[in-house]
Amino acid sequence: MSKKIEPSEAWLSSYAYMPKVCPWCHKHHGVKATEKQFMDWEGGMKVQNAFPDHTAAQRDALLVGICGDCHERIY
Ligand SMILES: [Zn+2]
Repeated sequence: MSKKIEPSEAWLSSYAYMPKVCPWCHKHHGVKATEKQFMDWEGGMKVQNAFPDHTAAQRDALLVGICGDCHERIY
């Protein structure tokens, strides 16, 4: 406990996990991103701007819940 972390800094780097169920194969999966990214997205930011480091499959998972396997199958 020697390193002091500012509350805002901790919040910006804290990760959240959004659970999803694939509408195609009903697999339970999810997408990990920072709390800030989810907040930006929920605040109206476009998914490609809120999650610039995520893959297209991960962004589609956030938007429509599709899993990586099904994403590969249909695209
Ligand atoms: Zn699937």
